[in-house]
Amino acid sequence: MAATRKPVVEVRRSQRRRRTVSAYRDGERVVVLIPDQFSRAEETEWVDKMLARLAAREQRLSRSDAELQARSQRLIGQYLAEFARTAQPASVRWVTNQTGRWGSCTPADRSIRISHRIQEMPDWVIDYVLLHELAHLVVPNHNARFWALVGRYPKTERARGYLEGVAATTGVVLAD
Ligand SMILES: [Zn+2]
Repeated sequence: MAATRKPVVEVRRSQRRRRTVSAYRDGERVVVLIPDQFSRAEETEWVDKMLARLAAREQRLSRSDAELQARSQRLIGQYLAEFARTAQPASVRWVTNQTGRWGSCTPADRSIRISHRIQEMPDWVIDYVLLHELAHLVVPNHNARFWALVGRYPKTERARGYLEGVAATTGVVLAD
């Protein structure tokens, strides 16, 4: 991932604020509102923290259906190149009505749906879930050939472990 350019930060101290810190983007600048009583060290700590939160929020917002489509093309090119036509989805989109599944694929109409539950997960986990569904366009069931395709992605095992961990703590059953 490209290094994020540090934005210009404007810190505003407020006597009315006691503990709450907030931040928002204002054009090229980021305005961070902190309590007046904060020390310099606290200010630095909170500015870093708020910049990270803002970046994470903006990244989540950028995870649109269009981005999912672009991600599909990249994954096909990287891992399913010889199936470039077969693995091509007719549609790929985020859905909120999918419980108990991270992703699903309907080979009949070549549509792929990805659960919004993974929208805030790391990129490499989203890549795994999406590649898994793309591979189903080539091989509909979970046979050895299917896993050989998905296994081309180097972080498959790690991503599966991550999702199993999330499933264990949230009660969401891992299914695909
Ligand atoms: Zn599957």
